[in-house]
Formats: sequence, C-alpha cells, structure tokens
Amino acid sequence: MKEKILLLNSGKCSWGKCLACGWGRLSSPKLGIHELKKAVDETFQEIKNKNISKLKIFASGSFLDDAQFPRAIRKYISKKCADACISLTIESRPEFITQENLGDFRGTKLTVAIGLESGDDEVLEKYNKGFAAEDYARAASLLHENDFKVRTYLMIGLPFGNSLKKSVEFADKYSDEIVLINVFPHSAAPLFKLWVAGKWKPLDKKQFEETVAPFKGNPKIETDFNNFSFLPRFPREKQEMIKGASERELLHPHFVVWQDYICRFYETPQGKKTVLFLPCTFTKPYYNSKLHREIAKIIGKRKDLHLVVLSSPGVIPYEFADRYPFNSYDWPEWEETDEIKKKYIEALEKRIENYLRTHRYENYFCFLKPSETFIALGKACKKLNIPLVNCLKTETWEKIKGGKNPLFLALEDLKEALK
Ligand code: SF4
Repeated sequence: MKEKILLLNSGKCSWGKCLACGWGRLSSPKLGIHELKKAVDETFQEIKNKNISKLKIFASGSFLDDAQFPRAIRKYISKKCADACISLTIESRPEFITQENLGDFRGTKLTVAIGLESGDDEVLEKYNKGFAAEDYARAASLLHENDFKVRTYLMIGLPFGNSLKKSVEFADKYSDEIVLINVFPHSAAPLFKLWVAGKWKPLDKKQFEETVAPFKGNPKIETDFNNFSFLPRFPREKQEMIKGASERELLHPHFVVWQDYICRFYETPQGKKTVLFLPCTFTKPYYNSKLHREIAKIIGKRKDLHLVVLSSPGVIPYEFADRYPFNSYDWPEWEETDEIKKKYIEALEKRIENYLRTHRYENYFCFLKPSETFIALGKACKKLNIPLVNCLKTETWEKIKGGKNPLFLALEDLKEALK
C-alpha cells in the first residue's frame, strides 16, 4: 500500500512536557485555513498522480486540537480522503479524542495514533506524559465505537524502565496496531540532557532488537529503531567554541555524546571499502583547509574511499565535518602538557577502537605524521589486529619534518599509496 506523509506544523502541542519529546516544545507559526488548504490540495494532487492509498499526517502535537488546527481543515481533509477512498492516519492526545471531533471524520477510514509510551501509570508520571493509562483506554474505546482504528506508540529504552510486557498486554486490548519505538530524544528534550550528562544512553540496534524480540510474533506489532534518522543535534543556544588542550576539552560531553552516536548508531555510507584516516586542521570545516583541499584533488572522484578525521573530539567521519561540535573546536598543540598528551592518546585509542569494532573496512590507510594521533591509531589497530598502512613514508618524513606545514610536502606519498 503506497502511502504519503504530510507534515503540518502549526502552533504548538498543548502539553509539550514529555520527557523525550522536543517537537512538542517547538512552536511553529499557526497556519491559517488558506495555507493549510493549499498544502492539502498539493498533497492530494500527488496522491492522485501517484496512486497513493494512504495518507499520514504528522502535526507535532494533536491534529484534533482546535488550538493547533481549525475544525474546518479537519472536515476538509476528511471529505477529500473519503472521496478519494484513501485511508487517513492522524495523531492526537487522548483529551482531544471526543465524540464531537470524531463526528467530523464520519465516512473516512480513520486511524488515530496515540503516543501512550507506557501502559504503566508510574512510568507515565515519570515520563511526564500528562495523562493516565485510563485516559488512553477511554479514547481508544471511543474510537472503536465509531468504527475507527487505534495505533499505539510504546517507548523502548526509557531511563526508568518501561515494564514492556505489561505495556504491550495493556495496549493490545485497545489497539489495532502497536509500534515499539526506540527512544531517541530531541535535543530540546530533558532526556537529551541526561545523555549529555552521561546518565542515560539510547539503546543500540542489538539491544533494541533483543528487547523487542519476544513481541515480534504479535501481528499487530511494528518496530521502529530509528524512524527519524536521529542525529544528536545541539540547539544553537547550547553550542559553544570548545577551545583548549585540557581534559575538559578532550572529554567534553558534546564530544562524548557524538562519539557514542558515531560508534553505536552511525552507519558508514554504502560502498566505502577503504578508510583513509586524516589529521584535523585548524580551519573548520576541515574541507576548507588548504591541506584537505589538496587531498581532495588527489582523491578525485574515488567513491570507495571513506575519509575519517582523527582529532581531539575523537573519530569524525567526513560527512559530519560541518556539523557542531566538529566545526566549533580548537586544540592548540602549544598548550599540550606531557600529561594531556598521554590522556589524548588513551582517549583517542579507546574512541578509535570503539569505532573500528563496529565499522569494518577492507583496507585501512592513514596519512598522518608521527604524532599522538598516529600512536593512538596504531595502538587501536594493533589491538584489533587490523593491518594499517601509513601513506606517509618514514623516509619522506625524515626529510620534511621541522618544516612549515610538512604534510604538504608529502602529498606525492599519498598519491602513490592510493594508486
Ligand atoms: S510526545 Fe506528543 S504530547 Fe508529548 S510533548 Fe510531544 S507532541 Fe506533545
């Protein structure tokens, strides 16, 4: 069944206080009926052209909330869906699921998705959901009385547990569809702060699959590991210039969260068989630096190479080079003490090891001068029995060391090695 997703951001969730939700905390300009109708008409044009039979509306809150959407647009969409014979899924909190609101959808194949998250009132209270399990049950029963369907979201991996068996059994009584969702907090949500503070982590794929495995036999159940292609996006007001060469910068929580993401959730782009570890540069993003521009010329259009920078934030796949915090730090080498150099090697070795345990390549290259970064990479590779080739030859380094920007003088080595 082909489906179309329509994102309608208008106003703000009336509650906006759930522990893991940032969308509900965001406020969008409230759309007028004409703007909404325009978006809907365009969507229906596409539905007609592409033979789509299912429309899902995501509204960062409750589509049935009058404060977010005028009743007229709900009636308009409902009629269009009924006329086009397509099914419609919307989202709402239970308090807006009233007989009056549901009356507007008579004749439409309607499913209402409710973010129950847990069937346990204690968990709902800790999650700050703002309603109890019985409120959900009332709303779900009303939907069924009106011949509509219920889709229920349950959260996996909350910091205080979620008695999943109890939640699934409870939701099963009231749902036509249940989605088990891995908790990935939006950066504006309080749960994100717990991750940054090192007090909680989202489940990785393996942990998630193990948790949901006992429920997969239930035909109502769908699982959703990473629906929103999650990335730890720090809001602008929380971003900072992470400058210095001390333990504070090396183990900065923003780097730690990103390394956790890169090691446990990030997947390397398809076809990248060879990794080339590169040094960082003062200029950020790295690809704007003279050295990386020269390297890019040598690499040309080779799609098999995966460029990964090693630096004080850890392991940085090139795709993230222009993202915070990797575009907003500086590690002044002249501030380094012997003690911090030791800690740098330890931290980077561990980060590389974690990365290489989950991201394997066919070939491992680097273009690094003999440095703490190179030592850390060498140690991690040795531990994992990975053969590493440094494109910079020892004899070249002996000739050029001590010069200004010596790696510029070794680009021929890189060219030759990559052949
Ligand atoms: S999860 Fe839903 S109810 Fe809770 S704040 Fe977010 S949008 Fe609002």
